[in-house]
Amino acid sequence: MAVERTLSIIKPDATKRNLTGKINQKFEDAGLRIVAQKRIHLTPEQAGKFYEVHKDRPFFAELRDFMASGPVVVQVLEGENAITKNREVMGATNPADAAPGTIRKEFATSVGENSVHGSDAPETAREEIAFFFSGLELVG
Ligand code: GDP
Repeated sequence: MAVERTLSIIKPDATKRNLTGKINQKFEDAGLRIVAQKRIHLTPEQAGKFYEVHKDRPFFAELRDFMASGPVVVQVLEGENAITKNREVMGATNPADAAPGTIRKEFATSVGENSVHGSDAPETAREEIAFFFSGLELVG
């Protein structure tokens, strides 16, 4: 297994409910190291650009506006197999389908407002990390 980096976002539904620390604890308990982190408030344009891959999906406008509705915490997680491991810690997209103990099972309120984002593959992880962070901001 290789050491990887992945982009994580704690979404507005979770920052609003003051869950940043509890969610970070889940990452650290799983052996993921937070090597970069900042709290920002995206504009609808920035959120739309980040989720451009979903622009033809029926929920795109809802997703874009939700991601711009409050602060988010963007972060880079590092560890063995970090991309897959983070997806396991996050749980299924729809909290109704998420396994016990996962972030989405414990904290998400709906398929849209599902508390966290995580990159799904090495190439998207590279692109998504570069969307938010410069190399100087990544401190292993
Ligand atoms: P993920 O990789 O598990 O986050 O899931 P996807 O890549 O399929 O979808 C990206 C994000 O779009 C999800 O995390 C949700 O926030 C949102 N989303 C997906 N499906 C729906 C839906 O049916 N309705 C709404 N409102 N949002 C959705």
